[in-house]
Amino acid sequence: MGRNTQIFTSIFLLLLFSPQEILIQGFEDSASRTLKQEPGRAHEVHCSRERSRTAWGVIEEYLMPFVEQEQYEISSKCRLHPDNDMFRDQEQHKIHVDINEWRCGYCKKSFRAEKFLDQHFDNRHNNLLNVSHGKCLADLCGALHCDFMMNSKSSRSKCNPAAVAKNRHLCESLANRCFPINQGSSASRLHELFLRQFCDAHKCPRKSQPFPKGGRKQPSVFYLAISILTLMLLPIFYLIVYLYQREMRGGTQELKRIPQVGRKAKPS
Ligand SMILES: [Zn+2]
Repeated sequence: MGRNTQIFTSIFLLLLFSPQEILIQGFEDSASRTLKQEPGRAHEVHCSRERSRTAWGVIEEYLMPFVEQEQYEISSKCRLHPDNDMFRDQEQHKIHVDINEWRCGYCKKSFRAEKFLDQHFDNRHNNLLNVSHGKCLADLCGALHCDFMMNSKSSRSKCNPAAVAKNRHLCESLANRCFPINQGSSASRLHELFLRQFCDAHKCPRKSQPFPKGGRKQPSVFYLAISILTLMLLPIFYLIVYLYQREMRGGTQELKRIPQVGRKAKPS
């Protein structure tokens, strides 16, 4: 009996405590998860992934074509250098498989939209982010006209002289740091270009639009549109030619048939 009571008591105790233990463990799990997530969230607060992406897009589209043309090597001290964008490595590990499929390049997990992959990066791979000072590309957005890009290239908002002066200063310091005039002709040409392309538009009242020297994407979009149009029109053109030829052949056959009937009719 004593042994049975002992067994019952232990089973009772087990039933009584194990759910709590599970609960506690679950709580600890989620607690550690939130603790693990917190640094990621902190980065999100301090450095916007979306704005960094826009800034990178601006650099790629409106600066890099000219840098490549000059075969100039941007120094890692320049904040426009890829190493100074904390999201660059993660962005390069995005695999866009299909319209509705984005894959993580680190663990190959698939997602239905880019924003879910962004969340996955924040939750699972935030240890890969280099959060040291000066690595937030979004901080350069003022100089690089991110708002102009994000508001579908319109600058209807009021011109704020203080903000404009600050952005102009940031813009000029980028030109000085990234393309120092004393480092050869390429650097000074790019320095001049950077001022015209990015800094001139920081002026009140707004007279000039940013990126007057143009960029990479515009011609490629134009050529893409032309080639798609050609690909669409080509089959239609061949169809018309085919139908026209068939019509012509049909016409000549009918014409041939008439004299044959005429010839056959003669001997009889
Ligand atoms: Zn992953």
